[in-house]
Amino acid sequence: MVRVLSVASEMFPLVKTGGLGDVAGALPAALAAAGAATTTILPGYPATMAALSDSSPVHEFADLFGGAATVLRGSAAGLDVMVVDAPHLYARAGNPYLGADGKEWADNGLRFAGLGAAAAAMAVGVGPGDGFDILHAHDWQAAMAVVYLNFHPGERPGTVLTIHNLAFQGRYPAALFPRLGLPDAAFSLNGLEYHGDVNFLKGGLSYADRIATVSPTYAREIMGEENGMGLDGVLRYRADAVSGIMNGIDDTIWNPAADPLIPGRFGRGKLAKRALNKTELQRRMGLEENPDALLIGVVSRMTTQKGLDMLVDLLDDLASDGIQLALLGSGDPDLEDAFVTAAEWNQGSVGCVIGYDEALAHLIEAGSDAFLAPSRFEPCGLTQLYALRYGSVPVVSRVGGLADSVIDANEAALAAGVATGLQFWPATPSALQAALRRLMALWLDKPAWTRMQRNGMAADVSWRGPASRYVALYRSILAERG
Ligand code: ADP
Repeated sequence: MVRVLSVASEMFPLVKTGGLGDVAGALPAALAAAGAATTTILPGYPATMAALSDSSPVHEFADLFGGAATVLRGSAAGLDVMVVDAPHLYARAGNPYLGADGKEWADNGLRFAGLGAAAAAMAVGVGPGDGFDILHAHDWQAAMAVVYLNFHPGERPGTVLTIHNLAFQGRYPAALFPRLGLPDAAFSLNGLEYHGDVNFLKGGLSYADRIATVSPTYAREIMGEENGMGLDGVLRYRADAVSGIMNGIDDTIWNPAADPLIPGRFGRGKLAKRALNKTELQRRMGLEENPDALLIGVVSRMTTQKGLDMLVDLLDDLASDGIQLALLGSGDPDLEDAFVTAAEWNQGSVGCVIGYDEALAHLIEAGSDAFLAPSRFEPCGLTQLYALRYGSVPVVSRVGGLADSVIDANEAALAAGVATGLQFWPATPSALQAALRRLMALWLDKPAWTRMQRNGMAADVSWRGPASRYVALYRSILAERG
């Protein structure tokens, strides 16, 4: 077994703000089946501290960026975890990254440098024989682990950095650098330095043995200026080390045949039970309880990335066409207001819940007929994978992982009987509107519709394939290092 230390700032079900949490929570079990044993190291937020059981201290830091810290090892949610118990950095209620005012915590640089430094120390081992073969860092919050390991004077494990979203980089003024405890060489063009600032993600991208991102299309897109978020040059420079490995889903949690969060459990051969979920969803969202109305679901953060602003202007038209919308999301206050207002204007046709609700997210996947993800960019996207598994036909913009996971119902795909959903491009209101018209036409063609549902439910969106690709990636580093 390859011994892996996974470094993550969130992990479902303990802490989750998005797909990163799902991945960190689900990948370890899949890796175990594919030949790698994972320990996950997490910040000691109140939620992680509370979930930790059978723990014992494995290391003490007299001073981890402003206070003492202890690394505890134990288990949480059935996984082997290490938690960095550093109250001065992590003992804060609420969101892991933002204060109550919705702004980033002012000391996020030190908070996630702390995670990185602690992870790097654990990766090389605090006692004989207890180190790791590979450190696998997720996103900018974990990227400093790769940087610290790069400057570790002795033997170090191989390193992988997975980019879940290049838009978030951990960029701070240069004044942070002297506090990081790194040699001057780290603040260079081939290291952390970025336009005079410190950039954690760039540091990780510069020093990682391998860079992975969460879909093959996103791996190509981020090498270009348009989607490179200012790091395309670094990624092109490291192109030989970059690969795209599609995320999977936890198919024990997202399993329509055994999901405790939905009233009607169903399988590919027994789609009739879905109707119970649709009725329940319509009731919950204040929609007209009409089995024949095409019901479109959305579960999403409300940010520019997710493209939901394009939907707002179409809502009146959708309602007059008899199409229903069930939306769950939170984020941009203006967008939240726009959907709440649209729901008031279109009672019975547009339902929206502002907030975060895991159970409702399951019901939307299980009860909607189609599932919309109109992202402007999307590294992988998980909600469309859940939709495939739950027999809700995904309608997606043709970007990143959305492009890689949905087979568009064009003439050829329909004729061959392989379509699983609809893609549209560009990400504009008119292209979205055209896609929704195509969707309506397919809705009226019941055999074609059922075929799409069944194809989607048969698609392998599990972690099995991706996990074996990660293990191959780990092994390629170990082989290279001898
Ligand atoms: P991202 O990580 O960019 O937010 P993904 O599609 O990769 O997008 O993952 C989003 C995850 O967060 C999914 O598991 C989705 O169900 C969940 N999610 C997003 N918004 C909400 C919400 N308001 N309530 C419940 N779950 C949500």
